[in-house]
Amino acid sequence: MALLEVDAVDVFYGRVHALRDVSLSVDQGEIVALIGSNGAGKSTTLRTISGLVRPTRGAVRLEGKPIHTMGADQIARMGIGHAPEGRQLFSRMTVKENLDMGAYSRRDGAAIKRDFARVYTLFPRLAERGHQLAGSLSGGEQQMVAIGRALMGSPRVLLLDEPSLGLAPILVDTIFEVIREINAEGTTILLIEQNALIALHTSARAYVLETGSISTSGSAAALLASPDVQRAYLGM
Ligand code: ATP
Repeated sequence: MALLEVDAVDVFYGRVHALRDVSLSVDQGEIVALIGSNGAGKSTTLRTISGLVRPTRGAVRLEGKPIHTMGADQIARMGIGHAPEGRQLFSRMTVKENLDMGAYSRRDGAAIKRDFARVYTLFPRLAERGHQLAGSLSGGEQQMVAIGRALMGSPRVLLLDEPSLGLAPILVDTIFEVIREINAEGTTILLIEQNALIALHTSARAYVLETGSISTSGSAAALLASPDVQRAYLGM
């Protein structure tokens, strides 16, 4: 059984039909990428999984258990961590306070401490800047806080929305190295990325979203070799 399953989901924003019959699955331990152009519905897919928008049709399941009827809080507690696009940090709070917010619903103090140590090991920059206001950080550092905050919920599945957005190329490499490391430590990842090349080099499998529908899916290697994908998303 897939760890996470999106099954024939439709989502509307008012009259805008943002997702049509979208299905995808992520197995335990995988990194799966969702690629597609601007406005294709990538963020909406993640927001549907984490309960920020509700599907009008279809289901989202975690280990076979429907979660699309639950509130976002409960979904987070079930083990879905979401690092949203645009970071959405508490800019007037410190780095440490932002990370604390990621663990707000947990009571397992010792494990929270371990997760703090884990985040600071993954992102040594954040350890140095623990008392700095999040709003004063660089874009790359804010991205680290957003991922770190999602990890502080000790998620089974981590949803990453455009981790490369607005970052200098060298930082993109750093962030993606850390994403692979998080996965190697056992966290399953669903990643959305406009940078299809890096997404396909990081993931085992991927789905292509076009104007609200999945148009193609397969192994990352097969998609990298596909002339259609090369033309539309790899600039070849
Ligand atoms: P981007 O990379 O630009 O964020 P995306 O693939 O993540 O693109 P979504 O943000 O999921 O795409 O948007 C999908 C569609 O839904 C777009 O047509 C967008 O304009 C529309 N949309 C998104 N959010 C809203 C909203 N709050 N109200 C109305 N329409 C919305």
